[in-house]
Amino acid sequence: MKFSRYTFLISFVLFMGYQLHAQDTDRVPRPKLVVGIMVDQMRADYLYRYYDRYGEGGFKRMLKEGFSNDNTYINHIPTVTGIGHSTVWTGSVPAIHGITGNSFTFNSTGDRTNCVGDEAVDPVGTESSAGKRSPTHLMVTTVGDELKLATNFRSKVIGISLKDRGAILPAGHSADAAYWFQSKEGKWITSTYYMDQLPQWVTQFNGQNRAKQYLDQDWNTLYDISTYKQSTEDDVVWEGKPSGKDSPTFPYELSKMYKEDDYGVIYNTPYGNSILVDFAKEAIDKEQLGQGEHTDLLAISFSSTDGIGHRYGPNSIEIEDTYLRLDQDLEDFFNYLDEKVGEGNYTVFLTADHGAEHNSQFLKANKIKVNPIESSIQKDLNALLAKEFRVENLVSSLGYAQVHFDYQLIERYGIDEQEVRDVCMKYLRRNPEVLMAVDMHNVGDASVPEEIMIRIKNGHHPDRSGAIQLIFNPNTRSLSSTGVGHSDWNPYDAKIPLVWMGWGIKKGGRSVKQSHMIDIAPTLASILRITPPNGNIGKALEEALDDEDL
Ligand code: ZN
Ligand code: ZN
Repeated sequence: MKFSRYTFLISFVLFMGYQLHAQDTDRVPRPKLVVGIMVDQMRADYLYRYYDRYGEGGFKRMLKEGFSNDNTYINHIPTVTGIGHSTVWTGSVPAIHGITGNSFTFNSTGDRTNCVGDEAVDPVGTESSAGKRSPTHLMVTTVGDELKLATNFRSKVIGISLKDRGAILPAGHSADAAYWFQSKEGKWITSTYYMDQLPQWVTQFNGQNRAKQYLDQDWNTLYDISTYKQSTEDDVVWEGKPSGKDSPTFPYELSKMYKEDDYGVIYNTPYGNSILVDFAKEAIDKEQLGQGEHTDLLAISFSSTDGIGHRYGPNSIEIEDTYLRLDQDLEDFFNYLDEKVGEGNYTVFLTADHGAEHNSQFLKANKIKVNPIESSIQKDLNALLAKEFRVENLVSSLGYAQVHFDYQLIERYGIDEQEVRDVCMKYLRRNPEVLMAVDMHNVGDASVPEEIMIRIKNGHHPDRSGAIQLIFNPNTRSLSSTGVGHSDWNPYDAKIPLVWMGWGIKKGGRSVKQSHMIDIAPTLASILRITPPNGNIGKALEEALDDEDL
């Protein structure tokens, strides 16, 4: 009797021990860390345009060891930074997530705001109003928010970027931190939305003044300038010039272009990307991302690619050199992740918030059709409306190719809004420079190809968008401008890279099946076995996932 009780006790202890052990190892299969990389203004073709010159550890490593969704499109307009960063991380569109531009006006009040503007919070790490930022205008959750909800807020979520919106919108509402770069002071900052003071490691990093160290190196091409065969000559009329320099040509003597109280010049150089990698590595180390029991998430966004792209355009030696250097920065970053988190323990994806057009003078010089815009639509509409309703300036702006009305005036003068819309539509339909015009109150009447219509509807928020959406011919723009822009539905702006690598991802492969920016978040949610963000309308990209982890 005594013996059997003893045996029972031993068995019980062994059994419980096994149970505890089983609990310890049989965990939800998840990566230790998710790293989302956005490259601001990266056209999808840059993956292949410079492929032959990339090293083995950066873009090529992602393509060879990971999986590429080679036909990924943004299915909303406009295609700009604030929206792209929101869409990637929410799987949603402006109609739902509410970020309709880098700034927008609320039709109900007439108030205008930066997409991450927040007067209710204070700057941290700076006195500058550049710190009055938060995700307050984002109406839905992000992947980071859902990861936090799924782990009872035990996962860490951090967003970093030179641009405030590139850090804040991806990180989401419940993020531990978002840090952005106050380039004037050369410092990483945040706001009281996240914390009351910078962590010591951020203050220490700021104290190193790396912006100055980088700028003192000047910017010359990585390789002999004659080897940049994918780009035009260095000195062409359609490239913009930095202030204080007579030509858009190498070398850029950065050491002579900054002042001790303004490091802003770094933003338009590849060093803006390098300093982001430095800071990302520091965040991983000091916040111990990917070291805990629960999956952490780091969202990073490279902004200098956008600054350089806008000024010099996609055919410049400057942009080619920027991508060759970014490739090296990525290699360095992936090596660091291998060492810190372990190869195969993290999932990384790389995408962009939008692409970029070619410059009109460059296109014209190469006999590709450009459509100049000559009429001043806002002026014409306001003249017509003033004649009809005896009120001046009813059209407040044509931002993002949308006709925005001054609803306060419409209200004050008791004008019938639909009549205002009808007067505008009549004019717009007859203007040969306007390819299509859609009255967002009567979308059923519009004769617009389905693919474009989806993008128009997805991009429209009733309180935060214009009343009428205009679509122009491809390459409609001024014939004299330097540099390039983006915001249209066309593939040059809307086709983005999407490459995955690491835990849960199929090794080596590409899909040419059409996918969309909104599919990224639900794919991440599938990898993480969590609920997709609450405004998600995309579909998981099954083809990118490793069957064994499904
Ligand atoms: Zn952007
Ligand atoms: Zn841009």
